[in-house]
Amino acid sequence: VTEQARVVVIGGGITGVSVAYHLAEAGWTDVLLIEKAGLTAGATSQAAGLVTAFNPSSTMLAWRRYSIELYGRLGVFSAVGSVRLASSPEQLKELERTASRARGVGLDVGVISAEEACRLLPAISPESLYGAVHLPGDGYLDPHGATHALAAEARRLGVRIRQNTRVTGLERGSRGEIRRVLLDGGDPIETEHVVNAAGLWAPRVAEMVGAFIPSTPVDHQHIALKAVPGHELPNDMPAFRDPDNLVYGKSEHGGMLFGGYEAEPHARWLEGVPWDHAATSLAPDWDRFQPLMEGAIRRFPFLADAEAVRLVCHPDAMTPDANPLVGPMPGVRGLWVAAGLSLNGFGGGGGIGQSLAALMTTGDPGVDLAPYRPGRFADTYRDRDFAAALARETYGDYYRLRFPYDAEVAGRPRRLSALHDRLETTGAVFGTKAGWERADLHRPGRPCTRNGRIERALGWSKPDWFERVGEEHRAVRERVGIIDLSSFGKIEVSGAGAARLLDWTAANAMDKPVGSSIYTQFLNWTGGVVADVTATRLADDRYRVVTGAGYLAADLGWLVTRKGDDPATERVEVRDATDDWTVIGLWGPRARDVLGSVTADAVDDAALRMRQARTIHIGGAEVLATRLSYAGELGWEITVRPGDAVAVWDALMAAGDSHGIEPIGYRALESLRLEKGYRYFGAELTPRESPFESGLDRFVRLDKPGGFFGRDGLLARRAAEPDGPARRLRTLVIGNDDWLPIYGGEAVRVDGEVVGRLRSAAFGYTVRRTIGTAYLPAGVPDGAEVEIDVFAGRVAGSLSADVLVDPESARMRG
Ligand SMILES: Cc1cc2nc3c(=O)[nH]c(=O)nc-3n(C[C@H](O)[C@H](O)[C@H](O)COP(=O)(O)OP(=O)(O)OC[C@H]3O[C@@H](n4cnc5c(N)ncnc54)[C@H](O)[C@@H]3O)c2cc1C
Repeated sequence: VTEQARVVVIGGGITGVSVAYHLAEAGWTDVLLIEKAGLTAGATSQAAGLVTAFNPSSTMLAWRRYSIELYGRLGVFSAVGSVRLASSPEQLKELERTASRARGVGLDVGVISAEEACRLLPAISPESLYGAVHLPGDGYLDPHGATHALAAEARRLGVRIRQNTRVTGLERGSRGEIRRVLLDGGDPIETEHVVNAAGLWAPRVAEMVGAFIPSTPVDHQHIALKAVPGHELPNDMPAFRDPDNLVYGKSEHGGMLFGGYEAEPHARWLEGVPWDHAATSLAPDWDRFQPLMEGAIRRFPFLADAEAVRLVCHPDAMTPDANPLVGPMPGVRGLWVAAGLSLNGFGGGGGIGQSLAALMTTGDPGVDLAPYRPGRFADTYRDRDFAAALARETYGDYYRLRFPYDAEVAGRPRRLSALHDRLETTGAVFGTKAGWERADLHRPGRPCTRNGRIERALGWSKPDWFERVGEEHRAVRERVGIIDLSSFGKIEVSGAGAARLLDWTAANAMDKPVGSSIYTQFLNWTGGVVADVTATRLADDRYRVVTGAGYLAADLGWLVTRKGDDPATERVEVRDATDDWTVIGLWGPRARDVLGSVTADAVDDAALRMRQARTIHIGGAEVLATRLSYAGELGWEITVRPGDAVAVWDALMAAGDSHGIEPIGYRALESLRLEKGYRYFGAELTPRESPFESGLDRFVRLDKPGGFFGRDGLLARRAAEPDGPARRLRTLVIGNDDWLPIYGGEAVRVDGEVVGRLRSAAFGYTVRRTIGTAYLPAGVPDGAEVEIDVFAGRVAGSLSADVLVDPESARMRG
């Protein structure tokens, strides 16, 4: 016997309940929620219940605002407001910067004085107080009551909730699609959609289909304190957050509930959370809590006399970047994820439920899900110790002041390119991306270093690498630069039907002659960009798709899912080939002289045209030379077997010596690509924007025979905006010819009104201005004056031509 449901939601915490409620609200009422114990048996049972809207991410901000509205509608939210304090001058700057970024995504917020903060929170000490942000709409809720209230609404709309039943397995059909859910009691359930909202247990549920979720249970502690006579706190006292002192809290029965973020938190159950754990707090650790107690007493000195009621200790599911995982599980059709809430459960929960339900029922989540995609972590993160090291670090950083150029320290070095030794000898300063060590820049003649934490006093000042990155930049524009690009994600697509699969998945025409390198985007249901890749056709039935280091798993999963759209492509092999290849970029006006002197093969324009790839020989090594440059100069990406990489690098360096070759890093690349107007996925390109808005129309072939995935969405957008997109990606030049503390995300104003935010920003060393990109209303004319909110002030800039250096691409032709 089998039972049926349109969707099975696994998990009766705030997330699962919210997803189930929003699916029913969107019209999918045939929803069955399965909970192994009772509702609120996981992290949900132990939450402190504070919620703030304050966040610089447009998506997280939208989720939190909506969650607050939802809980308000349910009558379970106490909107007492909140005050976020700056207890150091650096934190004040951080608050100002976050406020600028929050304004850029639509939250009207400013910084208030220390005196005003004391007026809102009369119980605090004014010692070391520099300012604050006040959000009157914030507040708190009772986690248990809120979850049950939402569950009652879900039931009212038809959702069935089955408790004390555990999901033990997921069965898939021939196309890899979800078919059945197995239970520890009762008959299997036949279904097309499963939502993994199993919180702390979500990794174990993902394992049921061989997938993985890199979340780690990391302990969090909060304490309830009795009222101190003479210092009773009013019920309507705003909640507070004091990151420098590591604590947040609210009043409770005249006393206080406060919690915080320990610097060295404890991770547990790395091998999987026991199935029988449910709804209980764990043994607290008073020693670990002590620094938080001290922090709270610094701000509320009378708490030194407060008596503790209890200290709660429980883990939540922390991802390596502290962002939840929301969206389709890459490569497993019908499996969706809303997990890894990373202490965002109540703030995020309502909105995440709404977005995932909208995505499942209409294809449009209404927000940019790219930073939250379950597929943003490549296989490296299957290493539980590595994922746990990052989860602990990112937890410890939650309230710790992190500067924009800070890099993670935990778990490094994890993934090394075959050229790592060579980069060490050129004085690389290593940053990290998706587990890879990559050179941010080089300091020739100096020992190599790993970027980590910037000293607090230097955090907001002009970086000491500014001039050196300028030298690397100029080397590429004036002579020749060489860069290790091995962290690129590489996906091999092979077999009969490979061309058909790519033509269906990508917006550009992909069925081009062997040797073509094709720049293209993958689009989602609504025509929004989900991937930005270059595919090289290596043979009639074989392509290599190259993507950014952080996008490998998502793009690979997207291709695997698209395979299932058409029986003719089901057998195409889609494989991660990242480790099979090392990639070297050789760019600059002298690049041809250098390459020509190390190979007997012809490398002139006739032999190797732009966007063409050919096998050539360097010394004894066979390499693929592809005439591409993300810097916008003459040059090649040279793909080589890792075993030959050092020999090829050495040959190029030796030949480049007389041409003034410089090893360059990713900081120079950012500056070079912004001058050329090249887009970067995750910044200029996100699933919210179509190629029409981002100026990539010329890479879209609407009339391709057979169409492509996302074409209908694109056409619908075009029909809705017959006069062209209302917003368009623009290039801005900002400030004067010196470095500015602009890092991306800042609010952009025209005529004093906030009209957008910076997607990227870097100093362009050729144009000697800070360059930014932003989506702005289409009517804003070229040359229009803009202002950028930089900390508490504003810096003037103007709208420029889209491409600042070599708009005709003459330099790339060489
Ligand atoms: C101490 C503490 C304080 C916190 N304070 C706050 C706060 O102030 N504000 C805030 O916004 N967030 C807070 N959080 C975070 C928040 O509580 C969590 O992010 C949120 O509750 C996670 O909800 P969830 O539904 O994703 O997961 P969970 O609550 O862990 O729920 C998962 C559910 O899935 C069920 N399940 C798992 N596997 C199966 C299976 N195979 N079959 C059936 N059922 C299964 C489990 O029994 C469980 O009920 C706090 C967390 C902790 C630990």
